[in-house]
Amino acid sequence: MEDTIFTKIIRREIPAEIVYEDDRTIAFLDIAPVSPGHTLVVPKTAVRNVFETDESTWLAVMSTVRKIAPAVRDAVEAKGVHINSNHEPEAGQDVFHLHVHIIPRKSHEEFSFWPKQDIDSSRTKEIAERIRELL
Ligand code: 5GP
Repeated sequence: MEDTIFTKIIRREIPAEIVYEDDRTIAFLDIAPVSPGHTLVVPKTAVRNVFETDESTWLAVMSTVRKIAPAVRDAVEAKGVHINSNHEPEAGQDVFHLHVHIIPRKSHEEFSFWPKQDIDSSRTKEIAERIRELL
């Protein structure tokens, strides 16, 4: 896989506010935060996204997310966090090195949830059936 900006952060070739690191993962503040404290958790092994990661790398990232989320929340005196991850450009992925966003939130008023769609129950059933078939 080609190097991304995150590989350069892992190698200390460019600066970042690193807040946590272990053998398999690193966490640093987002350069353009959605809210103050917005943190990215990244595996040290470069994989593009959920479609390419092995389970163990994914679990290492999620373990770090769980470990640091309370500190991210408390550092900015937030009440909650979004834990979000984008996979492929159509879903908003810009950096093609797997990462999970931890975004602190202080109040419900500062954001609106993703817009919802109406869907008829036959379409819901059809999609569920298709997912089950593909697994
Ligand atoms: P994505 O859109 O791929 O889900 O998220 C990529 C994130 O990486 C964005 O929130 C963006 O602000 C952040 N980002 C991009 N370049 C850099 C950088 O050089 N340093 C840091 N710390 N964050 C970056």
